[in-house]
Amino acid sequence: MYYDENLMKNVLKEKYAKIERKIQVKRDATSRISDFKPIYKEFTFTEAKAQSDRCLQCPIEPFYGLHSNIEFCRTGCPLHNDTLGWIKHTRENEVKNAFELSNILSPFPEVLGRVCPQDSLCQGSCTLSKTEFGSVTIGGIEVYLNEEAFEKGLKPYYGEDKAKSGKKVAIIGSGPAGMSCATFLLREGIEVEIFEKADRAGGLLTYGIPNFKIDKDVIQRRYDWMIEAGLKVHLNSEITDEEQMQELLNSFDVVFVGVGAPSGRKSGMKNEEAKGVYQVMDILTHIQKNVFESFYDSILQDKNIVVVGGGDSAMDALRASIRIGAKSVKCLYRRDEENMPGSKKELVNAREEGVEFQFLVSPKEITIDDDDNVTGIVCQKTELTEPDSSGRRKLNIIEGSEHTIPCDIIVLALGFDNVKFPWFDSAGIVTGKWNDISVDKDKRTSNAKIFSGGDAVRGADLAVTSALDGRTAAYAIIKDFGL
Ligand SMILES: Cc1cc2nc3c(=O)[nH]c(=O)nc-3n(C[C@H](O)[C@H](O)[C@H](O)COP(=O)(O)OP(=O)(O)OC[C@H]3O[C@@H](n4cnc5c(N)ncnc54)[C@H](O)[C@@H]3O)c2cc1C
Ligand code: SF4
Repeated sequence: MYYDENLMKNVLKEKYAKIERKIQVKRDATSRISDFKPIYKEFTFTEAKAQSDRCLQCPIEPFYGLHSNIEFCRTGCPLHNDTLGWIKHTRENEVKNAFELSNILSPFPEVLGRVCPQDSLCQGSCTLSKTEFGSVTIGGIEVYLNEEAFEKGLKPYYGEDKAKSGKKVAIIGSGPAGMSCATFLLREGIEVEIFEKADRAGGLLTYGIPNFKIDKDVIQRRYDWMIEAGLKVHLNSEITDEEQMQELLNSFDVVFVGVGAPSGRKSGMKNEEAKGVYQVMDILTHIQKNVFESFYDSILQDKNIVVVGGGDSAMDALRASIRIGAKSVKCLYRRDEENMPGSKKELVNAREEGVEFQFLVSPKEITIDDDDNVTGIVCQKTELTEPDSSGRRKLNIIEGSEHTIPCDIIVLALGFDNVKFPWFDSAGIVTGKWNDISVDKDKRTSNAKIFSGGDAVRGADLAVTSALDGRTAAYAIIKDFGL
């Protein structure tokens, strides 16, 4: 196909780039570290319309389909959300149409619009992202249109008008995988019961991702609607043994396992078991419980905190620690800033909020006092070699560079592993090398009556991919039931 780049640029400049790309307004750092409220303000209609007006409505799908190699926003979204459709409706202020369309393929668009790393998903595939003008801010529009719809009294559909199918599904785990599976099953009149070990529903959406990224009321609101539509949620109900699992298999037609990847990786450092060393999830759960109770009595208050790791969960722990009143908060990462695995946006936010970063340091050992309390962390400096022929840069420890960073608390944010639960074997759930549950394309495990998805299958991943797995499993279950 003939493609004149200059002509294209001029068309874009004339037609669309007159409107400046904008993300949601961010609260200033001093104000946002004084509470746990979300840091981004939602778009107003004027802002959402302006940003929707930037959309080219690329006519790619009619010519090439969703599964060609040509990418655009829909192909970048794991759910293949009809982004073009609901952006068009938002532009025309057709809130109901936009809302209904955005809720067809997505189980909770206002949640994903807030937590998805859009730059590597829908926005990363937006045609405008390949130009100097920058992608359409799809996530912000998605949040706006859903919140606007809720404001106007619209509610998501959970099969309220469907005849009851007489089929029953048990879901273990209430994170995005289980929540998504429940959504699509309820819409078909299937009875669903969720068994959740924690005291609140939502999995890592509730106890992992901090409140300043997503207010927990947003998750609970979805659960309240599902409960209103007939969902039963059993909190504080951990499935621990073969008998319990067998009981579920006897009482339900199908079981979906969405237990996540809950095991925080250890560092192997000397004194890792000392008092004051925590896994990142222990700290994030502890802080979120404080937030729920509006009771800021934290073990982190007035403490010098060191977080080891450079991913997004490290950023979350650092930023949450600042808000709860830590004296100082340092991030130690063994590579350089350029090679950090976390998102650049979160690094900027963390810096603005007062986190100190130390790059090219490798923690070696934890120092303790006579009562086994942490007193510091011994680190060595590192350097990255020049790239080899494959582009890989090795990490070298610089001999003689040992130094101790005094601190009271050390948080390990080194990633997560899957866990093989004791009831997997007897239920016929086969796992892979990393304890990941093995499934087929429908998310069916080796036991035809058991499905699984989310982090339990993929290893630590994303809310949106977990939502996709829940949806895939639900579609297959619905088909199995002949509905
Ligand atoms: C700190 C942190 C920040 C993150 N930030 C983002 C982000 O910004 N954006 C994003 O897209 N993703 C993010 N993620 C990843 C995302 O949260 C996960 O990929 C996603 O939540 C996985 O969903 P899931 O349903 O598979 O599992 P989970 O969300 O882990 O839910 C599993 C649920 O199962 C329950 N459970 C486990 N075992 C049992 C049992 N035996 N019986 C009963 N219940 C059980 C658990 O209590 C939990 O509630 C983040 C993860 C972490 C740790
Ligand atoms: S679900 Fe996530 S990836 Fe898909 S359109 Fe929404 S923000 Fe983008």
